[in-house]
Amino acid sequence: MSRPNILPLPFAQWGLGLDRPLLIAGPCSAESREQVLATAEGIVEQAPHVKVFRAGVWKPRTRPGGFEGVGEAALAWLAEVKERTGLLTITEVATPTHVEAALRSGVDMLWIGARTTPNPFSVQALADALQGTDIPVFVKNPVNPDLQLWIGALERLHAAGIKRLAAVHRGFHWFERTPYRNSPMWEIPVRLKAAFPELEMICDPSHIAGDRSLLAGISQQALDLNFNGLMIETHVDPDAAMSDAAQQVMPKDLAELLGGLAFRSSIAEPHLRNELQEHRNLIDRLDEEILQKIGARMEISERIGLFKQAHNIAILQPERWRRIMKAQHAFGAGLGLSPHFIQALLDAVHDESIRKQTDVWEREQEAPGIQGSSENCNGSSKDDAPFT
Ligand code: PEP
Ligand code: MN
Repeated sequence: MSRPNILPLPFAQWGLGLDRPLLIAGPCSAESREQVLATAEGIVEQAPHVKVFRAGVWKPRTRPGGFEGVGEAALAWLAEVKERTGLLTITEVATPTHVEAALRSGVDMLWIGARTTPNPFSVQALADALQGTDIPVFVKNPVNPDLQLWIGALERLHAAGIKRLAAVHRGFHWFERTPYRNSPMWEIPVRLKAAFPELEMICDPSHIAGDRSLLAGISQQALDLNFNGLMIETHVDPDAAMSDAAQQVMPKDLAELLGGLAFRSSIAEPHLRNELQEHRNLIDRLDEEILQKIGARMEISERIGLFKQAHNIAILQPERWRRIMKAQHAFGAGLGLSPHFIQALLDAVHDESIRKQTDVWEREQEAPGIQGSSENCNGSSKDDAPFT
């Protein structure tokens, strides 16, 4: 593969008075003129550090039949927000027709959504439509954890002349159960940043979380990893929102959330950043993901325990375990892990697994049929939520 080659401008050179951290807030969807204006006014009043107002005008629904956005008519409401509040405005575009309408309306910036980024045809069509304009564009990560697709989308836009280009980390769809709607997989955006130190990258904790109670933790993690801003879904009446109700916050809650975050110096240039601290923060996130995976593994162990009990199979299967050990030793060696470490880790996992299965047997004997056996093997997918 040829070396990626993009040199986007930092926020300070976008000519829009933007600073770090860049704060973007606004509803998932523009639903009505009143909702849009009331939300924007609430944001200005409660959270004056927010510089950009977001609202989805065309909404990509995972499944048909839901609220697909108001469409072009809502662009006039964004223009009104700008006129009344001075906030800059941003909306999502997914087709050249969207781009043309958005440019006509005078919206200040565009974002490309997580369902569009992974499709090179769609991204190229957007890049072609944007050629000759210099509107700032934010590119969300693709829904699937594929760094190359993300880079490819940024390259296509950069090649079309978009130099005011930034990335948005909104998490990745993951088939296993995680506490989040979309798994953060922090190592992917961190790798993007390592490849393009000049690229501005912000975090969208709302679409990672899927639930407003998780927003503060994710936002702080992003700031600790030196993200340059946050995009937070904010709605004047979140519970009545027509999309993503559970993850939106009221303007006053946004203010409280922002007030509780520890922001690093907004002027820290890459060479001044505390690299050691960044690495440590990333390690903490990876440790969390390792524990999540072990948790998911133990759930499956419990299910196997119930199965063994129902079919009268012994818990301990030494022959199978020896085979697994051998295969995992070979796999781990390929990752540069020492045999001693692999042995200790797998022994600990095995012991915990046996303990879980024994527990499950005992519980099942005490209260047959109450737990686990009818559980959906897929767990509950957070992305089954009606919208992103
Ligand atoms: C959104 O920002 O409302 C949106 C559709 O996000 P994503 O593309 O990240 O799912
Ligand atoms: Mn949304």
